[in-house]
Amino acid sequence: MSREIIAIDGPAAAGKTTVGRRLAARLGWRFLDTGLVYRALTWLAHQHGVPADDTPGLLRLVPLLDLRAGAPHEAKSATTVWIGGQEVTDALRDPAIDADVSLVARQPAIRAALIALQRRAVGDGPAVVAGRDIGTVIFPDARLKIYLDASPEERARRRAAELASRGASASLEAERAAILRRDALDSQRTAAPLTVAPDAVRIVTDGLTAEQVVERIQTLWAQRQSTSTGRAGATGQ
Ligand code: C5P
Repeated sequence: MSREIIAIDGPAAAGKTTVGRRLAARLGWRFLDTGLVYRALTWLAHQHGVPADDTPGLLRLVPLLDLRAGAPHEAKSATTVWIGGQEVTDALRDPAIDADVSLVARQPAIRAALIALQRRAVGDGPAVVAGRDIGTVIFPDARLKIYLDASPEERARRRAAELASRGASASLEAERAAILRRDALDSQRTAAPLTVAPDAVRIVTDGLTAEQVVERIQTLWAQRQSTSTGRAGATGQ
């Protein structure tokens, strides 16, 4: 039995968060951006002087994390991360975190320790969940799996624009190199590598607006719903 979840996986800066958040707001669902959990652990490691490859040191920091999926009624429909009662979400998209996060995320023991936290943040209701291993590991029973992709050039442009909108300086070439480095680490690791799930629909978003991508996914969801209802009706379930 599949769960009422739309999984959105894909490489760095493919638009998963923008699209996922808007889609969740339209559907009135929760939204969970799982990249934030790895980012928050990396942020904590920096704060505590724990090296990115120190597995036992990182594991000791895991209980400090409090991940919350944005509730549908919240205007931003955003995921937030809390540490010691303080919201730290805004600090997590810093380039210093980008540089280390894939080194933290490639460790099997770290990934295993973060699975329950991600599932708990979603709860029992319907949700849009974005990440790298959502359709393969976290919610393999998701009713719809999307693999969102875009060329490295397009992704570098989007990432540079996002940084500029926050007042940070960014060079296209540096962003492109950082994105490709992260993609290589994320797809070549042995634990839950970034990969297209066999039952995922791949959408290449070059030349598409976020709104157009949201609409395409909503159409796929409507089709998926009518086939699953039709099937249940036909078997009398
Ligand atoms: O999605 P975002 O770019 O914020 O993710 C940051 C990093 O966290 C990724 O490059 C990847 O190393 C890791 N990640 C992961 N599994 C997820 C989500 C993110 O390994 N489900």
